[in-house]
Amino acid sequence: MSHNHEPTDTLGPAGVRRVVILGGACAGLTAAIYAARANLQPLVIEGAEAGGQLMLTTLVENFPGFPEGIMGPDLMQAMRAQAGRVGAAFITEDAVEVDFSHRPFRIRTQSGEEVRARAVIVATGARARMLGLPSEERFLGRGVSTCATCDGFFFRKQDVVVVGGGDSALEEALYLANLARSVTVVHRRDQLRASKIMQERAFTHPKIDFIWNSEVADIAGDGKVTAVRLRDRVTGEVTERRTDGVFIAIGHKPNTEIFKGQVETDAQGYLLPTHGMMSSVEGVFVAGDVHDHTYRQAITAAAFGCMAAMEAERWLQGEAALTPEEHWGTAEPVGESNAGAPKGGPGKGARKTARP
Ligand code: NAP
Repeated sequence: MSHNHEPTDTLGPAGVRRVVILGGACAGLTAAIYAARANLQPLVIEGAEAGGQLMLTTLVENFPGFPEGIMGPDLMQAMRAQAGRVGAAFITEDAVEVDFSHRPFRIRTQSGEEVRARAVIVATGARARMLGLPSEERFLGRGVSTCATCDGFFFRKQDVVVVGGGDSALEEALYLANLARSVTVVHRRDQLRASKIMQERAFTHPKIDFIWNSEVADIAGDGKVTAVRLRDRVTGEVTERRTDGVFIAIGHKPNTEIFKGQVETDAQGYLLPTHGMMSSVEGVFVAGDVHDHTYRQAITAAAFGCMAAMEAERWLQGEAALTPEEHWGTAEPVGESNAGAPKGGPGKGARKTARP
């Protein structure tokens, strides 16, 4: 745990921060850069393991501006340094509890510190579901990947395995089939969960084949992946199959546990922006993989962070029309955000619902 913020540096009259950002990866750090440059003096509660999924990646070749590519952790370090340079403060802890039922919002960190904020940007990301094998962890970034768009390029003309039977698995398989020599989808049942159209595309692709009723029992290699051991779930037989890469595509899980019951989510637990980037709670904005299960890219997460910060700034500007007591005061009940607000950001349309 480390704090590098001064306790009094960015507080309003009642010790309330203007913007607190939860999550210190692409979305959160970009939001921090924009919020800091708008003079909102943001505090980033970046998480005990800050940096998000890019910390588990090696070379990132699709983030614009780096012709030779950049290592995932280096990109995160650079974004964090940039946010710090323009004035963001950081707490390197997890947020463990939030209370969004009243304003100012309250956030409690791992060490018990309570932070209060007028606006919150939730950028806590998502994590890929993993198989739970020790070998999978060992080879992550060395042949094991959770993102074909990110890493597929490294497997050109090689043989790869994709694990899973949903739309993600087939999307990964189809993407990889454009690059790899062969793609084998390993699924634990004899029927896919994926949509019919994706199934048809995968079944008819000459480079994709399937191994049914099988689970990955182990991943083998020497420095990098060379084979998978597959267990047939019907016969129990274990066989080894040579491969250069293993793409795990068994779904994602948004990091939204602490918001449960407070912010509207979809059935999978992803936070739902109701208009612009504002969530169902007025003053709480969402950004990145915590709400986006479609694109899930570093560049899109960064863009969502930018949008959330700009909308938070506009919303706070609207709030500034309130008296100082109203603006910084405590125990103000929170209205539901205005789902019918005009497009182009919450702005003043949303503010209406904040006032009794
Ligand atoms: P999903 O639909 O939950 O599918 C996960 C797959 O992984 C299932 O086939 C599941 O097997 C398998 N699986 C889960 N845990 C496993 C384990 N421990 N070991 C082996 N296999 C395991 O997840 P998703 O594919 O990421 O899709 C999530 C949502 O996003 C879906 O609504 C999907 O339609 C949508 N999506 C859409 C698109 C598109 O339209 N292009 C692309 C991606 C995602 P079982 O089938 O046996 O449960």
